[in-house]
Amino acid sequence: MKQINKLNRRNALKTMAIGGASVLMLDNEPLNAATTVALPASHKNVKIVIVGGGTGGMMAAARLRRSAPKAEIILIAPNKIHLYQSGQTFVAASLYTQADNERKTSELLPDNVKWLCESVISFEPKENSIHTDTTGKVSYDFLVVALGVEYDYSRIKGLNATMIGQDGIASVYLNDTIRGRASGGDITKEWFKQIHTKALTADIKVICSEPDTQVKGMGTSLDILFLGNDILKGNGSFTKNDVHKKVKFTYAKADETLFAMQDFDDVIKKELDKAKNIDTLLGYNLTEIDTQNKIVTLSTKEKKVQMKYDFIHITPAMQAPKVLRDSPLAIKEGKYKGYLAVNKKTLQHLEYKNVFGLGDVLGIPLGKTGGSVQKQGVIIQDNIASEIEGQKLLREYDGYTIAPIKTKFGEIILAEFNEERVFSRFGLSPYKPRWLWWELDLHLVKNAYFSLMMRGMM
Ligand SMILES: Cc1cc2nc3c(=O)[nH]c(=O)nc-3n(C[C@H](O)[C@H](O)[C@H](O)COP(=O)(O)OP(=O)(O)OC[C@H]3O[C@@H](n4cnc5c(N)ncnc54)[C@H](O)[C@@H]3O)c2cc1C
Repeated sequence: MKQINKLNRRNALKTMAIGGASVLMLDNEPLNAATTVALPASHKNVKIVIVGGGTGGMMAAARLRRSAPKAEIILIAPNKIHLYQSGQTFVAASLYTQADNERKTSELLPDNVKWLCESVISFEPKENSIHTDTTGKVSYDFLVVALGVEYDYSRIKGLNATMIGQDGIASVYLNDTIRGRASGGDITKEWFKQIHTKALTADIKVICSEPDTQVKGMGTSLDILFLGNDILKGNGSFTKNDVHKKVKFTYAKADETLFAMQDFDDVIKKELDKAKNIDTLLGYNLTEIDTQNKIVTLSTKEKKVQMKYDFIHITPAMQAPKVLRDSPLAIKEGKYKGYLAVNKKTLQHLEYKNVFGLGDVLGIPLGKTGGSVQKQGVIIQDNIASEIEGQKLLREYDGYTIAPIKTKFGEIILAEFNEERVFSRFGLSPYKPRWLWWELDLHLVKNAYFSLMMRGMM
């Protein structure tokens, strides 16, 4: 196994060149897509309130600071620590520490943006105000909602979030964006080790599940499946013993397809077949867990199957945060019930035209990745400035989504797509696992996230 967590000089230069190219390529896109070239700023004295201090909220603050230079901007976010959540998978892989993924919110906060370290407890869009748990009423001229999503581990009967990390149960997703804490990476790292140790002396069964809701960071459950198997082969950093033949994986997914964008099913299937010790159970949702006897129930609408396991990785069901679900801003019915009701192109609220949103909280078909939020940031930067000026909204989001699927240590399939098609900004086939994407993701993306994206420069 080559040293995958150290770059030699030549490779570092290549990676930097590609990284630089990726930033520049954004500028070449047409106006109706996301571009880093901003439309004229609005110089009106308005009050903009942003709720949420994660990827979307922090980026919106930085971008709106530029597109509305005279506006009073208030960020309402309870988290003193900002999490780079994508990095939790690399913590599980023993390549980052959790501390690598954390920055103080105060350090990322743009100049001239006021931060209220508080939680929003209600929305009153008819009065152009929200209420927080400390200050109480906060009024606004424009509101940006970037609250992310909530996990619902308890939707699986017999489970709650406190059980993750015990009895063979892991979930790399586990974090608390409100408190700015994440334990999912370290728990999964330990879980990988436990599987390996047990496989030295016994045949074992591992399940990786994905629920029947939209999930953020799509492809993450596949990362855990593939990296887990690769660790059992002796790759990664902590052992050289190959015990993967002692382990049988089942990838149980509520969807009938392997990946949200079906075009990638064939390439993922090829990787699964290559592994030889991975079965799939598609169309089955994990509905119940008996942790004492280590049995799960997986259900379709018509039938149920029970399955024994020794270890299980759970991707939790996800939903819009309760404060939004209970508010007039939420979608009332259908597939995206509870999420923010926006026009999926302009990201403007369908009813309240002074409300915009970005990130996982949006009730739209795709876009629940950090890379999507980056595109959405550009859209709202300009569309809010246009709305302040009473002009037509020119920017349109196309559903851009990017999912780096880690097929083994040192290789990633970079799935890039929008609502209509699969593509690659780099002009390389997106269907091929590549070392280059791994190097980019591991060595460049986190730094670009904190140094450029959170400053609204990418
Ligand atoms: C394990 C994992 C792996 C991932 N991998 C990738 C990847 O490889 N690539 C990728 O692009 N994306 C990945 N993602 C997804 C990415 O992290 C999210 O899509 C992105 O962070 C969404 O940003 P957001 O602003 O919508 O939500 P978040 O970043 O989650 O921020 C939500 C914010 O809302 C705040 N908030 C919550 N409730 C309240 C309240 N009542 N009042 C005020 N504020 C509140 C929170 O404090 C938080 O600051 C991954 C995510 C996870 C968990």
